[in-house]
Amino acid sequence: MNADQLLKAQRHKLIMILGRGSVEIFESILDHLLAWDLLSWEEYEHVKSPEVLSHSSRNLLDVVTLKGTRACELFLLALEDTIHTSQLADLILSSYKPPEKSPEPSASLATLPSQSLQQHRPNIVRKLHGHIAAVLEILHSYGHFSKYECDEVQLPIYTPSQQARKLLDLTKAKGEDTAQVLLDYIESEPGPIKPILGNACLKYQEKLSSTLAAQSRFLTNYAGTENMCLEDIYVDCLLEVSNTAAAQNGCLSFLVSLEDIFGPDGILNKDADTVLITGEAGSGKSTSLQQMQQLWATKQAFQDFTFVFAFSCRRFNFIDKPISLQMLLFEHCCWPDDHQSEVFQYLLDHPEEVMFLFDGFDEFKFQFTDEERHCSPSKPSSPLNLIFNLLQGNLMKNTKKVMTSRPNAVTANLRKYLQKEITLKGFSPEGIGKFIRKCHRNSSSAERILCFVEANSALHGLCHVPFFCWIVSKCHEQLMQNVSDFTHTMTDVYLLILEHFLLHLTQNSRGTNEVLLSHVATILHLGKLALDGLNTCCYLFSAVQLQDAEVSEEDISLGFLVCSHSFSHAHNAVSYRNYEFFHITVQCFFAALYITLNDDVAQLTLYSLFKHRQENPSLCIMSAGCYSGWPFNCHLSHEEDKRRNETLLQEAETSNLQITASFVSGLLSSRNRDLMGKTTLFQKQSKKCRLVKKYLAKCIQKHFLSIPPAVGGEKKSMHALPEFVWWIKCIYEMQDSDLAKEAVSKLQVNHLKLTYCGVGPVECTALAYALKHLKSPVGLQLDYNSVGDLGIEQLLPCLDICHSIYLRGNDISDQGVSKLVERALDSCNLQKIALFHNNLTDACAQDFAKLLKHKNNFLALRLGNNHLTAVGAEVLAEGLKQNNSIQYLGLVGNNVDSHGAKALALMLKKNTVLEELCLQENCLVDEDMLHFAEGLQNNTSLKVLKLSNNRISRKGMEFFVNTLKHNVTIESVWLGGNLVTAEEIEEMTRVERRLIF
Ligand code: ADP
Repeated sequence: MNADQLLKAQRHKLIMILGRGSVEIFESILDHLLAWDLLSWEEYEHVKSPEVLSHSSRNLLDVVTLKGTRACELFLLALEDTIHTSQLADLILSSYKPPEKSPEPSASLATLPSQSLQQHRPNIVRKLHGHIAAVLEILHSYGHFSKYECDEVQLPIYTPSQQARKLLDLTKAKGEDTAQVLLDYIESEPGPIKPILGNACLKYQEKLSSTLAAQSRFLTNYAGTENMCLEDIYVDCLLEVSNTAAAQNGCLSFLVSLEDIFGPDGILNKDADTVLITGEAGSGKSTSLQQMQQLWATKQAFQDFTFVFAFSCRRFNFIDKPISLQMLLFEHCCWPDDHQSEVFQYLLDHPEEVMFLFDGFDEFKFQFTDEERHCSPSKPSSPLNLIFNLLQGNLMKNTKKVMTSRPNAVTANLRKYLQKEITLKGFSPEGIGKFIRKCHRNSSSAERILCFVEANSALHGLCHVPFFCWIVSKCHEQLMQNVSDFTHTMTDVYLLILEHFLLHLTQNSRGTNEVLLSHVATILHLGKLALDGLNTCCYLFSAVQLQDAEVSEEDISLGFLVCSHSFSHAHNAVSYRNYEFFHITVQCFFAALYITLNDDVAQLTLYSLFKHRQENPSLCIMSAGCYSGWPFNCHLSHEEDKRRNETLLQEAETSNLQITASFVSGLLSSRNRDLMGKTTLFQKQSKKCRLVKKYLAKCIQKHFLSIPPAVGGEKKSMHALPEFVWWIKCIYEMQDSDLAKEAVSKLQVNHLKLTYCGVGPVECTALAYALKHLKSPVGLQLDYNSVGDLGIEQLLPCLDICHSIYLRGNDISDQGVSKLVERALDSCNLQKIALFHNNLTDACAQDFAKLLKHKNNFLALRLGNNHLTAVGAEVLAEGLKQNNSIQYLGLVGNNVDSHGAKALALMLKKNTVLEELCLQENCLVDEDMLHFAEGLQNNTSLKVLKLSNNRISRKGMEFFVNTLKHNVTIESVWLGGNLVTAEEIEEMTRVERRLIF
């Protein structure tokens, strides 16, 4: 298929992609097309004028397709340059063979200033970031722009790129003299330095940006083993913004790129200026901030900010004395070599030019509080209090703050001060491919690894977490050598990296257990350090702490601990050398190794690890041995001393405990016990394993029992606590199907609700592993998680035991649906599928039509708020004609117009079972009502027809009123939000009370 065929064939999909993207993306595509001379100025103005993005997109496609193949190729090139690959993958890769050589945009020689501006438009838009005010000042002072025009360009509703485009468009309209002034400015301006910046500030800015550039160039985590240049391996992760304000229009959440995180979408509190990025451990939070630093410092983005200060919250725990704001910036980030007070004053006077990056908010020892107000930039306070006050805006109001955290640490109190919250969702399936290709420049080995990963479903699911993907990519040789020894679990992946590092040290190829056993002492030293650290929320270790845990230089040289050049206590003092585990999950893994391998760690620690966090901690300490929450007899250690030595983990952070507990479960699995416990070294492992198993099974059953009983003999509906997913993950890590059976087979539950529980592909694997043992069919509600196409694949093994599956708002595309339907065809229990608000297009209609045709116990299909058009509706209608069971079809909020409406309406002549048809918020008009009137003439099944928020006027409704006289089955027709007046509504409801407005 060549480019123009592709554009024609996939027109709907393209409109959908462009229409649901942002104005910013659309306009930057136009920038490219203008620069390549593909659009004339008139065409550009015509295309960008409609207010609705999908209309503009239609106009654009009309213009481009008329211009022939080459224009279409250039358009696709611009699309690929601008839009997130995950949104384009199925479109481009599956059906378009790009020409051997990418079409190079041909630029004719520019002679006029306005032509130069146009030919370099994408770069100029970027370059003008942070310069708009300065440029306007110049243009105004030369009399080219009026004051009014300057204000117009700078309206705060525009993003910096949009302001730059306004400026360029207005310049174009003014003529060549104005264009020349602008061009002169652009050519003479060395960088993002604002004209008002004095010498001292300029020098400071240079020092700050070179410091940040150097700091962020490498992924410093791996300094111990290799140098990975960020630029070489960075791949965009999925970043999702929730837009509650737009929820009534169906736009609940959408993806943004890192450079767009300050855009207007998803703002919860416009008075706040902190953007929070949340994500689970390893999802790429630190790396994203590092990328922001790098983009700023190398002048590639974020040039609105003159100064950027980057901090790791982990390190704040180490500052043991009060500090002032000035000390925080200068001593703990970058020291100005002279004129400190002038620089500081500039920062205070221009807060909007300052950005703070705070990484790892969850690693603060204390929770956020707004009780202690601190407004003085010069007075010292505790570092924690300084940060809390910066976030609240008590200090340096109007500075932009970007902060990362794991979700657990985000309290309601903190949320009050957030401008918006963005969720980091790891790699998309395409992202996994890109990452592996970047790590392995040799393309054949990259493809081999990728094939292997994709063929191993559980491994593929794990790889959506970037950190796991890195381990898999790094350990591919070990992985692929032992193909029979399948890697399924997170613990397996971490054992791989452990083995990899140990082998690296010993430089020989002994068997895994030999390698591990020969390093038990090292593992235990690092394990003790890790566990003690978790216990006290300490993630950065001093020389004294290393000594206490008997960690030697040799142990350090393994590479699990990396050197962290931490703060100096005064700017001229030597910096202290501290160490940290190269990732927090690695610290949890070593803590888990210590707990499983060390016979002195006994039941109380295990208990602390697995217990429900809401329980009263004092109760646990005082009577741990006989506490009734402890589900099995705890024969506490006889020696009092030993008991005191037990690590109770009272202060440890919940997500770290949960990760550690999952690793403990994994290490106690029979396979891993075999691996490590062949000697008599670890006698108590079997006992620990029995305890953990018993505990997990009991936890799940107790959780179930704590839910109120069902009414009227019905089965229970269970809204699971987040702990439920964690317990299930622990069971999966144990790889013990008897345990899974024991834990869930007694759950007599009809509906299992796991909405907003952070369920991603990894969790889906675990859920499917356990839930397939349920005795009777269940409705599995996973709305508003991060299941994605990868997660769908993981869920398939438990589809047989689901009578319904709800996956609203889960980033699922047609590819995911295809897998789901294939399995659903053989899942006799499955009767309902809900996929509201995903990324479905007409391509999925074929799959659903097949399902409808062949599955005659199927009851409900909810496809609302996706991107189906008439094409999809027609295909679905064909399937419906041949179905004898379906009761409910939901297509609210799609793009179905007259053709689709006609097909669905006439389907009602054949289908004799459908009871409810939902077509709100589509593009239906009066003529379509004629078809519905015809379809309903002899229909005796449809009870509810929902047509609200379309474009139907009185004329269309009257067709109905006549038909309804002969139809007694219809109970209600919803028609609110259409084109009728209040009087007409009154009149019509008087005639037909089943019309509901
Ligand atoms: P988090 O802060 O969420 O725990 P990190 O940012 O530390 O996660 O990521 C852990 C590792 O995963 C990184 O060191 C890197 O190897 C890999 N990684 C994370 N994000 C990316 C990315 N966007 N591109 C490439 N690799 C990444």
